Amino acid sequence: MTEVVSLDGDMKKGEPVAAYGDNSIPSGDDERIVGAVAKHMAAIMSELNLDLDDPNYKRTPERVAKMYLEMFHGLREGAEPAVTTFPNDEGYHHMVIEREIPFYSMCAHHFVPFYGHAHIAYIPESEVVGLSKLPRILEFYAKRPQMQERLTEQVAEFLWSRLKPQGVMVVIEARHLCVEMRGVKKAGALTTTSALRGCFADRLVREEFLALLRRQTSW
Ligand SMILES: [Zn+2]
Repeated sequence: MTEVVSLDGDMKKGEPVAAYGDNSIPSGDDERIVGAVAKHMAAIMSELNLDLDDPNYKRTPERVAKMYLEMFHGLREGAEPAVTTFPNDEGYHHMVIEREIPFYSMCAHHFVPFYGHAHIAYIPESEVVGLSKLPRILEFYAKRPQMQERLTEQVAEFLWSRLKPQGVMVVIEARHLCVEMRGVKKAGALTTTSALRGCFADRLVREEFLALLRRQTSW
C-alpha cells in the first residue's frame, strides 16, 4: 500500500493554489482595455524613437494590445475550464498519462514566449477526468504571464484539488526565448520542471511515469 503524502507541507488536499492576478481581466470591457494598452505601447515606441507614421508601425500599438488580450486569455473572467469528472466505475487504479501536450506561454519576467510540452499523469481514486480536459487546464494556466515552475505547480494542484486522485504528476519541458534571444543566449536550452502530489511521492510510482515518458512510440 502506498502512503499518500503531499510534498508541499502546507498544502492540503482540496485547497486552491494562491495565485497572483487570477481572473483579473474583466469581460465586456475589451474596447477600453485595447485603447488604453495601445496608448502605452505607442508611448514605448515613441521613447524608442520609432516613427509611428511608418506604415508598418501605424497599427502596431493596437495589434499588440489585442494580442495581449488573446495571449493572456487565462486571466479573463470565466476562463477557467469546467472540469467534468466521471465516476471511476471500472475501478481503474493505475496510471493515466497524457504525453507531449504542446503549449505556449509568456515569461512573466520578460514578456517574451516560452513554449514546449507538458506530460500529465494521475492515478484515479473515485473519479476520472475526460482526457480532453487536461490540455484545457494546461492552456488556462499557460495563457497568462507565467513562470514555468508556477505553471507546473498550478496544473498539478488543479487536478489534485478537483479530481482528488491518489496522486498526480506534471512534467514540463520548455524553451525560453528570454534565455535564447537575450542574456546568456543559449539557443536550444531546455528547462524541465516537475510537480507531484500524493502517491507520486513514492519513487516506484514516479519511476513508472518517467520510464513511460522515455518510451518511444512506434506509430
Ligand atoms: Zn524570462
